[in-house]
Amino acid sequence: MSRVAYVDGQYLPNRLAAVHIEDRGYQFADGVYEVLAVVRGHLVDEGPHLVRLARSLSELRIPSPMSDSALKIVMRETVRRNGVRDGIVYLQITRGVAPRDHAFPKAATPVLVVTSRRRRPTDPRIADDGIAVITIPDIRWQRCDIKSVALLPNVLGKQLAKEAGAYEAWQVDQDGRVTEGTSTNAWIVTAERIVITRQADSAILNGITRLAVSEIIRGEGYNLVERPFTVGEAKAASEAFLTSTTVDLLPVISIDRDPVGNGAPGPLSRRLLECYLAHTAAVP
Ligand code: PMP
Repeated sequence: MSRVAYVDGQYLPNRLAAVHIEDRGYQFADGVYEVLAVVRGHLVDEGPHLVRLARSLSELRIPSPMSDSALKIVMRETVRRNGVRDGIVYLQITRGVAPRDHAFPKAATPVLVVTSRRRRPTDPRIADDGIAVITIPDIRWQRCDIKSVALLPNVLGKQLAKEAGAYEAWQVDQDGRVTEGTSTNAWIVTAERIVITRQADSAILNGITRLAVSEIIRGEGYNLVERPFTVGEAKAASEAFLTSTTVDLLPVISIDRDPVGNGAPGPLSRRLLECYLAHTAAVP
């Protein structure tokens, strides 16, 4: 089945799907996005994704191109036209097309693009074996809570991880505290089985997976503390893991090549992954 994209009001074959060269997303990264998981045909945590999207748009003062109910129809139709049962939906909204000028254009209509593709579930061996992360300085701006398409530091960070043979790079603020991964949220578990993840301030993106896993942790009766943690604390933790829509939850077994705990995925990480997968599989 050839892929189809929704672009500004039309469903088009991917090879014909294009945006204008003066789209402000292209010239200024003046736009926002969301990535939703499709599991057995349903959109996981669609409500929270739409809430976060509305917040990102309003923080950048980009009007919403359509109502949530219309957006839901476009996402479902894009999923359907691409024959996706298990995969992702990518949704992007830019401020629109206008002659290049930094300040907001007087008359620009936001441009919506929606794509969807199949995804094989993450290779279970990755979750079984655990993954390595490196740490890098966080060189991003001060509004990482906005899910903007300006991802250059994240791109550079992920490339550094790849070149180091690691799966992800954990970004570290000027006080030596981990903010988050380049496309994932970061978590540790102490010897006392307290789960720690940074509070959702403007230094991180408040992941929808982060929210779901937080609820699971509380629901299962574990202790969750939302506060910054240092690289030293992370290396001394008994477990560590990361979360995102596209990778679910992956145990971290080394940080800068130093083993975390006994260097294998920990029991709590495994348990939380099971619970999270059950959450994604539950039809709302
Ligand atoms: N942090 C960053 C910087 C991200 O890009 C992502 C993925 N979009 C996340 C965290 C995880 O967010 P979510 O759980 O909503 O996928």
